[in-house]
Amino acid sequence: SLILSIETSCDETAASVIKNGNEIISNEVVTQMMTHKKFGGVVPEVASRQHVEVMTQVIDEALKNANTSMEEIDAVAVTEGPGLIGALLIGVASAKALAFSHQKPLIPVHHIAGHIYANHLIQPLKFPLIALIVSGGHTELIYMKDHLDFEIIGETRDDAVGEAYDKVARTIGLPYPGGPEIDRLAQLGEDTLNFPRVWLEKDSYDFSFSGLKSAVINTLHNKKQKNEEIVSKDVATSFQNSVVEVLVGKTISAIKEYNVNELVVAGGVAANKGLREALQKNCQDLNINLTIPPLNLCTDNAAMIGSVAHFLYLNGKRADMRLNGRSSIDIEMTK
Ligand code: ATP
Ligand code: MG
Ligand code: FE
Repeated sequence: SLILSIETSCDETAASVIKNGNEIISNEVVTQMMTHKKFGGVVPEVASRQHVEVMTQVIDEALKNANTSMEEIDAVAVTEGPGLIGALLIGVASAKALAFSHQKPLIPVHHIAGHIYANHLIQPLKFPLIALIVSGGHTELIYMKDHLDFEIIGETRDDAVGEAYDKVARTIGLPYPGGPEIDRLAQLGEDTLNFPRVWLEKDSYDFSFSGLKSAVINTLHNKKQKNEEIVSKDVATSFQNSVVEVLVGKTISAIKEYNVNELVVAGGVAANKGLREALQKNCQDLNINLTIPPLNLCTDNAAMIGSVAHFLYLNGKRADMRLNGRSSIDIEMTK
């Protein structure tokens, strides 16, 4: 199939042309990061407006750089959700307009399914597999028996890991987005603060990061009151070690219990050096095949949406002109 895909769930306006679910013909992304930096986080209303401003141009570029036109496209795919509703609506409205005017099938895609399928653009997914999703809004362990077959076996009960990174970064005065900054500092510091590792109930694959976030804030507060020096790089290392140990520990337990040989990692936090190294080491020791997308496919993009859409297209999944953006959707209902 040749699919034109569109993604606008957060602060990236993206369009891509994907062949057969794994061949990137074009992949255009316009990020609004510099705009939102000024506000210390993504401002939904601002995001929607910026999507409107560049959407048409991004789609045109995707078609042009793929050396193709709507006539040759088999289907139009778009992120239906989850995400910021106003942002999603711009992509959905654009996809509907294109599909309607060119009489092409319209395929709705789950954003997190997209993040997982970013791995399929690197190497064909092999089943069964465990997917670790670590992004700005999600922290999940998903078991997949086959294409489009998602079973959530664990998820965060409070903050997503990327969210925890951004909040902790803010408390130590680092600019948004804080994840990359903490990651950089964590390479330089030492684990001196012994933050808690939150494992929850034995056998649970759920996560909780709000306690860790509070522990960081309380520690900084106490140190300030006692006039003790706060070494940012040590805070970063101590925080990152706690996060990575729990993420890797639960992922490895899941791999063993579900008896799989394949691990894929997805979402913006998959860019984290500490996490990548720990996963690489553990997977090597256990002979597990590990796939982590390159950075530009870890963060939001439309190529990953086109990859999922190929399999949905083959399965006959279609949406009609009533399609709407949805701020939350159940990934297990994908098939
Ligand atoms: P979702 O996909 O759940 O809707 P999102 O698309 O906004 O969320 P992503 O773009 O996948 O999230 O990831 C952004 C998050 O990744 C931010 O919280 C950012 O701080 C974090 N991040 C990026 N690079 C790193 C890194 N090297 N270490 C830790 N966190 C990072
Ligand atoms: Mg983003
Ligand atoms: Fe995302």
